[in-house]
Amino acid sequence: MTNLIIALVLLVGIFFLLRKILSDKKWVLPKDPFPSPWRIILFEKVNFYHALSPEERALFENKIQEFLLNCKITGIAVSIDIADKVLVAASAIIPVFRFPDWRYSNLKEVLIYPDRFNENFETSGEGRNILGMVGTGYMEGKMILSKSALHHGFQNETDKKNTAIHEFVHLIDKLDGSVDGIPALLLEKQYTIPWLDLINKKIDEIYKKKSDINPYGGTNRAEFFAVASEYFFERPKLLAKKHPALYEAMEEIFDHEMDDRNLVKNKIKVSRNSPCPCESGKKFKHCCEGK
Ligand SMILES: [Zn+2]
Ligand SMILES: [Zn+2]
Repeated sequence: MTNLIIALVLLVGIFFLLRKILSDKKWVLPKDPFPSPWRIILFEKVNFYHALSPEERALFENKIQEFLLNCKITGIAVSIDIADKVLVAASAIIPVFRFPDWRYSNLKEVLIYPDRFNENFETSGEGRNILGMVGTGYMEGKMILSKSALHHGFQNETDKKNTAIHEFVHLIDKLDGSVDGIPALLLEKQYTIPWLDLINKKIDEIYKKKSDINPYGGTNRAEFFAVASEYFFERPKLLAKKHPALYEAMEEIFDHEMDDRNLVKNKIKVSRNSPCPCESGKKFKHCCEGK
């Protein structure tokens, strides 16, 4: 009888191990070189990418490619192109850039809606105030993003808002089992209590109208974490100045000294003959285009 139990336990163990190995295997790695039109999109639209070193840019590109190979992006009642897809992937990679082994194992598909939608996922009619959401229940494994909010996040770099980054931060938060503002996978246990104290204090400041943090962050801890992350990745220097303790904590969580990054605000336009945005002094076609 005992032998039977041991055998059963072993079998169950082997089953879970196999399942883990097989599901890890499903994650496809990029083999092709990074397409140069995608590189132009990144240079033109993604400040974060522009501010990276050449080696980091290569890593970022690889992660973008990997994300797009493993996550489907589908337009719902709206046509989408490669720029939309690259921006979704960039939003996914920015928060976890310093964790190259990170996998969004809880995401299979991102649905792009034309604009705001309501709780029934309707894109017309009353009560449409949602710009993005992480699916639960029958929508598990899916994320919805409004196309206009996706683009707005990368066009306006001063408003501390980026809906797509916000939703990916919820997903990161969710990977440990609960969306509670504590990204247990990124935050070491001994920091959890100080982090919660800090969130409570910051939410309190929002209530007292003594904060420049998006008031939506006052909804709960999970929303605070997502909203503060938008701020951290879009205006790191400002966050470090106005909320030093919060900045420090976010730097710890995302393992990224974002305030050292030079996020340029002026938009660049890249063509084959234009000077390369990497500031090498060469033309784009003789420099980063063919990397
Ligand atoms: Zn949210
Ligand atoms: Zn270059």
